Amino acid sequence: MTFLDLHLNNSLLKAVHDEGYTQPTPVQEKAIPAILQGRDILAGAQTGTGKTAGFALPILEILSEQPRAKGKPLLRVLVLTPTRELAAQVGESFQTYGKYLPFKSTIIFGGVSINPQINALKHGIDILVATPGRLLDHLSQGTLTLKHIDFFVLDEADRMLDMGFIKDIRRIIAMLPIKRQNLLFSATYSDEMKKLCASILKDPAIIEVARRNTSSELVNQRVILVDCKRKTALLGELIKENKWQQILVFTRTKHHANKVSEYLNKIGISASAIHGNKSQGARTKALADFKAGEIRVLAATDIAARGLDIDQLPRVINLELPNIAEDYVHRIGRTGRAGNNGEAISLVCVDEFEYLKGIEKLIKQKFERESVKGFEPDLSIKPTPITQGRGQRVKR
Ligand code: AMP
Repeated sequence: MTFLDLHLNNSLLKAVHDEGYTQPTPVQEKAIPAILQGRDILAGAQTGTGKTAGFALPILEILSEQPRAKGKPLLRVLVLTPTRELAAQVGESFQTYGKYLPFKSTIIFGGVSINPQINALKHGIDILVATPGRLLDHLSQGTLTLKHIDFFVLDEADRMLDMGFIKDIRRIIAMLPIKRQNLLFSATYSDEMKKLCASILKDPAIIEVARRNTSSELVNQRVILVDCKRKTALLGELIKENKWQQILVFTRTKHHANKVSEYLNKIGISASAIHGNKSQGARTKALADFKAGEIRVLAATDIAARGLDIDQLPRVINLELPNIAEDYVHRIGRTGRAGNNGEAISLVCVDEFEYLKGIEKLIKQKFERESVKGFEPDLSIKPTPITQGRGQRVKR
């Protein structure tokens, strides 16, 4: 199946093409037609399966088919997420897939000033991605209304229940119009979840897909503990020693992606960096050279690596662990695809132990800690907090 078979308009197809997606993922193949038919859905799909495009694309398609009211846009799409990181990611996805369409979207979550959010809402928006608490603050202040909502999406619903949002969710649902399309995504089905589904969904299409890129059995995951200052040197050493040819290296920041690429080129390992500060042309060229085997290393930030689909990529290296555990799953999902084996190696220093613990908790797996002679970390050193607070997205 291709995206053409899904009956999406050209603006959406172009945006999907820009992202480099060649084929819909299983959840997209199932969810997109069901949503376009106007059905509620209950999808057992987790982060990493492509679920966001699975709901964002058909929603944008339906919005484009229906004429907009004159004047300020009416808020027609509400996506609730448990965390602000997920809200930011989903909001970004709507922007990405909807970049050739006229719809406005915004994100609201707590922990930041409410005023810029009020301003954004004042001008009218079509799509809102929100965490429950801050959404309720806005509703109680009357800075937005849910009475025009056509689509209600509950993303990572199980996580929302785990985080104790059930009352908030129920309060929000009570403010939605009765006639609406409901899309619920959840990885697990507790009794509480079943009750919630029964109270929200009407004759839902049930969609079950295997997680595409969890700690996939096809990916051999390794953790090497290393001295913070010697990471890049170890990376060079590992590449040379093992004669690795095609390696995607992840860094947390654009600056580090540049630095790593510069260093590797200096020691005779061909490398390029891709990140948001590079022009689209430079990014496309770097990716094409990497795919063609003309450069051995591509150093990328998480956002730049979104949607990177490289056939038979054998190896991903996390030069720095992501500060958001889910990003680890996205990163390692770049390898071990389509039945091929892959290896994901994380070079971890003492400052990142907290991130490592978060990742192990998320994927429910504990890694053996390896080390390489001459690069061992001094475990007696107290970790220096990484400047970006935990859970906060680093500017990339
Ligand atoms: P999600 O499960 O929505 O968080 O998506 C996981 C990752 O898959 C994101 O990095 C998306 O950019 C990427 N993605 C979504 N759809 C596709 C597709 N059809 N082909 C390749 N990558 C995709």
